[in-house]
Amino acid sequence: MGTYRQTVVDLDASAEEAAAGGERGRGWLESEGFVRPVPWRGEVVYLAGPRWREAVDLVSWDWRARIEGLEEEPGDEVRVVVGRTVFYGGRGDTPSALCPHCRSAAPDWPGEALDAWHTTGAADLDCPVCAHSAPLPEWNWTDDYFAFGHIGFEFDDWPPLHPRFTEAFGRELGHRIRVVSGKI
Ligand SMILES: [Zn+2]
Repeated sequence: MGTYRQTVVDLDASAEEAAAGGERGRGWLESEGFVRPVPWRGEVVYLAGPRWREAVDLVSWDWRARIEGLEEEPGDEVRVVVGRTVFYGGRGDTPSALCPHCRSAAPDWPGEALDAWHTTGAADLDCPVCAHSAPLPEWNWTDDYFAFGHIGFEFDDWPPLHPRFTEAFGRELGHRIRVVSGKI
């Protein structure tokens, strides 16, 4: 059991831009028909819209549905997370940080930098191979394990999001995005 969560993270939105960017992104998802608003307990939640199939990779979905027993239609809501967040994939293997400059894997777990970013929203990480220093959000991760950002769009128990969809979403946001996914 557990929830299979995919989060489309905006890598470039600042803390100040986050609220407006989250609204704009959700508005686009709704106007394109990927989600639809549904009243629920005095609030509004966003469930799969009439065009949800165009956002996902249904070939791998068949496979995933078979092995994990998920329903044919995405069952859970799409949430917008606004505010400084370490988004992570939750896979089993410990990920490695990959230098954005030379692509080397950092040999040590960058726990201090992770904590610092979580606390302050700013942290640099030095590459021991090429000596390049870059802000933590610029680093890549094996399996796209982490993303550090201020806006995330969480798709719970949806089929794998199609790259065509996530690229279009990123263009709409006007920013780089990273998709982190895994069981939570
Ligand atoms: Zn490097």
